[in-house]
Amino acid sequence: MVSRVIPVDPFDLVIFGGTGDLAQRKILPALFHRFCAGQWPEDAQIIGAARSDLTTDAFRQIVAESLRRDAPRRAENTEALDGFLQRLDYVALDAMSAEGWPELTGRLTKDRIRAFYFSVGPRLFGPLADQIRSHGMVSDQTRIVVEKPFGHDLHSARGLNSTLAAHFDEGQIYRIDHYLGKETVQNLMAVRFGNMLFEPLWNSQYVDHIQITVAETVGVDGREEYYERAGAMRDMMQNHLMQLLCLIAMEPPAKFDPDAVRDEKLKVIRALDPVEPHHIVRGQFATGEGEPGYREVVNNPRSTTESYVALKAHVSNWRWAGTPFYLRTGKRLVARSSVINVQFKDAPHSIFGEAAGRHANALSIRLQPNEGITLKVTIKEPGPGGMRLIDVPLDMSFADALGPENQDPPDAYERLVMDVIRGNQTLFMRGDEVEAAWAWTDPIIDGWQARGDVPKPYDSGSTGPGDAELLMKRDGRRWQGIKP
Ligand code: NAP
Repeated sequence: MVSRVIPVDPFDLVIFGGTGDLAQRKILPALFHRFCAGQWPEDAQIIGAARSDLTTDAFRQIVAESLRRDAPRRAENTEALDGFLQRLDYVALDAMSAEGWPELTGRLTKDRIRAFYFSVGPRLFGPLADQIRSHGMVSDQTRIVVEKPFGHDLHSARGLNSTLAAHFDEGQIYRIDHYLGKETVQNLMAVRFGNMLFEPLWNSQYVDHIQITVAETVGVDGREEYYERAGAMRDMMQNHLMQLLCLIAMEPPAKFDPDAVRDEKLKVIRALDPVEPHHIVRGQFATGEGEPGYREVVNNPRSTTESYVALKAHVSNWRWAGTPFYLRTGKRLVARSSVINVQFKDAPHSIFGEAAGRHANALSIRLQPNEGITLKVTIKEPGPGGMRLIDVPLDMSFADALGPENQDPPDAYERLVMDVIRGNQTLFMRGDEVEAAWAWTDPIIDGWQARGDVPKPYDSGSTGPGDAELLMKRDGRRWQGIKP
């Protein structure tokens, strides 16, 4: 099965921060892949913009090096690489001054899609928006792309929203959470709403609890300063895990359309109860496996920033009342794994008697690595000697099921950048969604600060702090998904 490529309309894409890490490692390789896939029209152009005084040729050289590093297989094709580089232009400008802006205006094509990607720190969002507006670059075909972090708390997120709203309509603003661009995350919606099988059971009557795990083996190297201010709650829970929770818990939207989907997600966030302090565990990785601990990495012996957080959340609505959602994420854990486990309840009555044991179905959705779905079902243990039951997995790996050409799904940024050009906001966060997520997150963080909470140390290369196991054990449950 080969994926269909639907060409997009001609566009100009300006990447502010075009020389930066995100642009070089993610955005430009994603654009290159789509170019190689034949999705670009003849005359689309990308303009890199930053303060560095570079010629267009020098910028192309930098991008060529990045592509050879980050997209080596496709960059081997020199014809494709040269073709892509020819579409690149560069303008030196400063968001904080008038320098370079008339030149940028002159390079843009009239009457076509114009996307401005803010691949810069959030303090530049306001100045960039002002410059774009004052240089007359806004039209009804203008789109603005902003990166996470979208605010540090509710107050700052509101500030960013109102700064952008002063210049652009909500329909022109694309807030990226790259998790939503992952093929398997979109599959959550396909699995839920494309099959009859699951949806009738998808509620508190049949689901005992749901677990969402995003475990990373990496630490915070290279991002120490940012991470010290953020921590796992702001960096992962408020956005990525919250988005996964929304997709798992939301009501079926009437159609797969941006506002219908985002309205349903927003309802989930607003239905979240405040989290009780004893339902949260914070952790910080200590030295282990010959690697330095968090405090050494960030060079702050008294740091109280969490690199791990686990919590129990409740979605208070008809569908989910009484079904807890356990969410956890952490760094320097034993394995890299993003997985959602939907644990169904036991059958109400066992006709096989107590000796056969009690069994319950579980649906496990693996987002990475080895994307796929496993449904745990109960069967008879083979052989004579009475009716004994065992659990077996019905396992579907997407790579195996969809064939080798789909083993390497497109990076999230490929999908998202092309959606910006297409003008499809379904996989982007709306301003009210982001604010609602902060409104739920802020009291948790404020509570830690007020109580002077210190995260529990956990060994690098482990499954996280022991208290996270206790959080489950107290409820007679246990975590699934990452194994030591
Ligand atoms: P970075 O490597 O520091 O790059 C910043 C870019 O902005 C550079 O191209 C810089 O070039 C340009 N710049 C800085 N000040 C400017 C100004 N006054 N006017 C115009 N251009 C200016 O940062 P990054 O890692 O790419 O991150 C960019 C944004 O994406 C940040 O908000 C970050 O939080 C977010 N993000 C990054 C990642 C990632 O993996 N890197 C992941 C998720 C989100 P000059 O110095 O030449 O101006």
